[in-house]
Amino acid sequence: MANQNFLGSTNKLFDQALSYTDISPDLALRIRVSNSTYTINFGVKLRDKIHTFTGWRSVHSEHFEPAKGGIRYDINASQEEVEALAALMTYKCAIIEVPYGGSKGALRINPKDWTKAEIEKITRRFAQELIKRDLIHPAQNVPAPDVGTSANEMAWIADEYRRIYPTDINALACVTGKPTEKGGLVGRAEATGRGVQYIIREFFRHDDDYLKAGFRDGLKNKKISIQGLGNVGYHAAKFLQQEDECRIVCVMEYNGAILNPDGLDIEKIKQHYLEHGSFEGCPEGKFEPNTSELLCMECDILIPAAKENVIDEFNAKEIKAKLIVEAANGPITFEADEILNKRNVTIIPDIMANAGGVAVSYFEWIRNIRHIRFGRLEKRRNAFQFETLIAAIETMTGKDMPEKFKEQFIEGANEIDLVRSGLDDMMREAYQKVRQSMIENKIPNLRTAAYKVALDRIAISYDTIGL
Ligand code: NAD
Repeated sequence: MANQNFLGSTNKLFDQALSYTDISPDLALRIRVSNSTYTINFGVKLRDKIHTFTGWRSVHSEHFEPAKGGIRYDINASQEEVEALAALMTYKCAIIEVPYGGSKGALRINPKDWTKAEIEKITRRFAQELIKRDLIHPAQNVPAPDVGTSANEMAWIADEYRRIYPTDINALACVTGKPTEKGGLVGRAEATGRGVQYIIREFFRHDDDYLKAGFRDGLKNKKISIQGLGNVGYHAAKFLQQEDECRIVCVMEYNGAILNPDGLDIEKIKQHYLEHGSFEGCPEGKFEPNTSELLCMECDILIPAAKENVIDEFNAKEIKAKLIVEAANGPITFEADEILNKRNVTIIPDIMANAGGVAVSYFEWIRNIRHIRFGRLEKRRNAFQFETLIAAIETMTGKDMPEKFKEQFIEGANEIDLVRSGLDDMMREAYQKVRQSMIENKIPNLRTAAYKVALDRIAISYDTIGL
């Protein structure tokens, strides 16, 4: 039921934005409905018994190929959820202008019920089923990690693909989010959380925006509350704490939260959580076993980074944050969104806020197809040019350039610097484009404006192929 609401919410948000576009109802319907969803039931022999698993891969749009989107492992996964998530992928890719259609996959499983070796066996079987139907393919459908999956699963998927198609020179590009030793890209694991940081920074670069949201000054020292300390939540929290001097006052997990009004040390609480499976007993803050009301606690910025539908019509009235940044997909229901908009709570929507993951997946996919690391060709040439420039400046001025500047110039950019630079540019531009559309078209909020930007771009793309 909750997941039906998720798909329903996504469709209602789509319809709301339509009134700000010139898209005809028939084209709108074509864009809105999922192209196809494949359901698969497959068996794996484990613990002396055949276990039947159910999984899905939904392709929402193919106006660009490959279609792109993560695979999640979750016991509550359903077809409706996968279709909603695939639709969000379509809109997200359009907003950050990566040439992909939208897709998503899921396997109904609790990963904690199985050992790593068993998960590998299950993943390989699932991958075989998807690969033989081209639902994993470098040119047609490229998954990535999501809830409950990580670089490990992506490495197994890539390996299965390579076994089935040993002569495909682009085999590694069949999946992103791989380990760096297996064709992955530095900076992909942190990318979604990093993108959340970059878009929050961009929001605070616009005085009008943060003043309108009720802030008096910039990002420094803002009190942040985060739900979910998984891949996305952990990286967002860590960077905002360490690099932007924000105070992370609360981190919620499914089995309790940790609070500290002076700010939590994210690295330390993460370590504690990894070692003990809970924040209980962590000396960094106060443990709170009951998290049900914590989304409504006093803070400046709320970052839901766990799952969908956590802010609904019941708790939306009580939210105290001035800004909500949707690091998770679909954390706010349609009804809650309406309430929060009426209460003038600013929301940076999921289709912008968490697009950093697919942005860096795009870089990884390009790198796999190019078969060369970013910056490889130009690095030494750039160093030579900088050395020449420094020598010319020193000769002309008669003074030595300080060593620290020299080193920075000559060392040049590493691959991680280039990845972060590309990601930062995409997140800034996405925010600026959506903001501009909101102002020019007198759209009441960023979410509706983000949908409009996405829908207009997708409609043009359908138009040019004659639909
Ligand atoms: P993850 O599995 O690494 O982390 C999710 C975390 O949320 C886990 O630590 C889990 O214990 C916690 N959690 C689950 N239920 C909770 C609850 N009720 N209250 C508090 N915490 C809870 O997953 P992730 O990759 O970090 O994804 C999180 C969200 O971000 C999802 O909505 C996902 O679709 C979205 N997202 C992820 C990526 C990515 O690159 N991984 C990209 C875009 C969007």
